[in-house]
Amino acid sequence: MKSISKENIIYEFKPDMKHVEKVKPDNIVKFHANDAFNNQIQSEDTTLEEVDFSKLNPATGPLYVEGAEKGDILKIKILDISIPNEGVVVTAPKAGALGDMVEEPMTKIMDIEEGFCIFNDLKIPLKPMIGVIGVAPEKKAYSTGTPWKHGGNMDTKDICEGSILYLPVKQKGGLLALGDCHALMGDGEVCVASCEISSEVIVKVEVIKKGEIEWPIVETEDETMIITSGETADDALKEATRQVVESLSKGRDISWLEAYLLASLVVDLRISQIVDPKKTARAAVPKDVLSTEGINRNEN
Ligand code: CA
Repeated sequence: MKSISKENIIYEFKPDMKHVEKVKPDNIVKFHANDAFNNQIQSEDTTLEEVDFSKLNPATGPLYVEGAEKGDILKIKILDISIPNEGVVVTAPKAGALGDMVEEPMTKIMDIEEGFCIFNDLKIPLKPMIGVIGVAPEKKAYSTGTPWKHGGNMDTKDICEGSILYLPVKQKGGLLALGDCHALMGDGEVCVASCEISSEVIVKVEVIKKGEIEWPIVETEDETMIITSGETADDALKEATRQVVESLSKGRDISWLEAYLLASLVVDLRISQIVDPKKTARAAVPKDVLSTEGINRNEN
């Protein structure tokens, strides 16, 4: 298995990134991912206000996948997200959804043992996930802290072990990079961080030729989800709705209006995060109603 070490990091997803490793499709790769602070917080005495913000959200990579070209889809099966024995959560004045109410910073280092995160006297089950994962965008550069159509800081808890993520390829090789893993997270990520961890992430990469998706899609055991971002949570939710209605219309061969009705019956709109430079939502549909193939407009 090829692996990419944690020194190979980027802070921007750009159209013209230089890859650090190359694999053929259907290969398995290990990414050594740093935490969102690039390991700057090692004790509860270090606050969010003291960290170097230019070193936030490093993503390990990029990985060149042979044969991936503009107009294809990169399929990423998340096989394993390793968990260390502690994680860190932080907040500070102006941070997160209630930043105006926060008067002083707080850093909390939590033990992780036997599948649980220990928060005071609570044992919270882990659900490890990837916060930042993306490919080279089409034209613009995006900070790794920002989510958009190329992926990025989507902070979506379903991008987890066992899930399959689909990203639209815009540049040769796709150029995949990832980081910012969490041992668990609640929808919204309200205080600006979650149980932040460094991790070794093992994925299998495949290329779907001539696919057509506009936004990232994540597939869990039961659901297909279109992940959208916008300036506000409302914008992200509206775009998720627009996307899922169009996909239902195309995928099930029904009119837009009928798909709109159907969406109201079966789609769950969920917030992914409301604390990053753009906000992220997802529209979740049962797989038997809409599969990823149904969203991929070239297969219809
Ligand atoms: Ca994040």
